[in-house]
Amino acid sequence: MAEETIFTKIINGDIPADIVYQDELCICIKDINPQAPTHVLVIPRQPIPRLVDANEEDKALLGHLMISVGTIAKQLGVEDAFRVLINNGEDAGQTVFHLHLHILANKKFSEDSLAMS
Ligand code: 5GP
Repeated sequence: MAEETIFTKIINGDIPADIVYQDELCICIKDINPQAPTHVLVIPRQPIPRLVDANEEDKALLGHLMISVGTIAKQLGVEDAFRVLINNGEDAGQTVFHLHLHILANKKFSEDSLAMS
């Protein structure tokens, strides 16, 4: 069996985290090392290592994650300006191999590129 990720430990309550939203399929926590004044992570309870590892069976879950992003953005009051990011693979900056969506907001985003700074 694959080793538990830090996010599974958080989901199971074995490690503390600042939880901003949760439902039956996902949890949203504040990032421990925020890259913007608002930086949260939306994490499915079911551990899918990378986005590329998701398949047809995960369609409803992936849709739920995207809808949850909107719900959470509204809850945080950032619905008019936020960015969503998924790192897929080590060379793309993925450090935790349990799919998660970053929501970043309340910073001035570069208008002409996808760069975060
Ligand atoms: P990745 O680099 O895999 O796309 O993003 C992983 C994110 O998880 C990073 O932004 C990192 O700061 C965050 N992170 C890593 N460990 C913890 C932790 O124990 N608690 C919380 N809240 N965030 C974490």
